[in-house]
Amino acid sequence: MFSNAEIGIDLGTANILIYSKSKGIVLNEPSVVAIDIHTKQVVAVGTEAKEMIGKTPRNIIPIRPLRDGVIADYDVTAQMLKALLKKVSKKAGISTRKPTVIVCTPSGSTSVERRAIHNAVTSYGAKQVHLIEEPVAAAIGADLPVDEPIANVVVDIGGGTSEVGIISFGGIVACNSVRVGGDKLDEEIIQHIRKHYNVLIGERTAENIKMEIGYAHPNHKEVTMEIRGRDMVTGLPQTITVTSKEIYTAIKESLEQILDTVRATLEECPPELSGDIVNHGIVITGGGALLKGIQEWLANELNVPVHLAPNPLESVAIGTGRALQMINKLEKAAK
Ligand code: ADP
Ligand code: MG
Repeated sequence: MFSNAEIGIDLGTANILIYSKSKGIVLNEPSVVAIDIHTKQVVAVGTEAKEMIGKTPRNIIPIRPLRDGVIADYDVTAQMLKALLKKVSKKAGISTRKPTVIVCTPSGSTSVERRAIHNAVTSYGAKQVHLIEEPVAAAIGADLPVDEPIANVVVDIGGGTSEVGIISFGGIVACNSVRVGGDKLDEEIIQHIRKHYNVLIGERTAENIKMEIGYAHPNHKEVTMEIRGRDMVTGLPQTITVTSKEIYTAIKESLEQILDTVRATLEECPPELSGDIVNHGIVITGGGALLKGIQEWLANELNVPVHLAPNPLESVAIGTGRALQMINKLEKAAK
């Protein structure tokens, strides 16, 4: 007997995670799809497609349809979701027939964008689709007591966007989103290397540099990294050595933009809840929360405690899964 599956989806700009009620996280892959432009067929999805970035022949293009935090390309997103759900049902052996699905949407998304997400999931054959706002899912997944009348502050630093939410009594009290996240940091690194060394590097190299020697503040023991790219003058491959201090200067301004967004949101907090923030602090989630030194830097700038979520890359997916159980309870109670 197949019972209808219950699935939570974190439709992230960089990574998609799928959570099944019975098995936990069953898929965690980059939000990338490779398409053959002649046949319009999906050639690869997820990890396989990400490996193709910057390396494909002309007719195959890897696309990140959610890149800037919104569904830039609805058809491609729907195709990517379908391919990934198919993969999950095969690999993890969970039935994805007529599932009940809960999907988290970026808090800055418009109703048109939300509808696009809803339709993409429905077109896969979902029986019921619920949407949950990302900061709420992130906070639930980070173990915050969102139902209590206290200020739960969550800062989710993803690929395309960073979202700041204050949640109390299960609802959003204040929230802001900025289209600055890990991708922007990667771009800044690419620009820096181009300007200072006349060398072109790809997105994946830039991301590696960020993860290896990227720091959120200048007070750290300097480390260096050898990288390869294409010399813009000779056109030939070139190896250069970059330092963590120069990478810091390259990403500093984008980090400040994230900080400004957190500050602005804290300023919107009702005074009765402000005191909670001083005591409980804020929680950071998303891949960007793993940037070295970001926790100390934010704590220092904001003068409140900053905690790293237990599994920052999985918080939203775990939160959608828990929200799924809550919805079930509510629906059963309503019957
Ligand atoms: P999204 O929810 O938008 O899909 P994620 O929360 O999955 O985004 O985070 C992806 C981003 O986190 C990427 O930009 C990635 O480069 C970045 N990231 C992942 N690990 C690290 C790390 N160790 N240090 C810095 N950035 C990281
Ligand atoms: Mg996310």
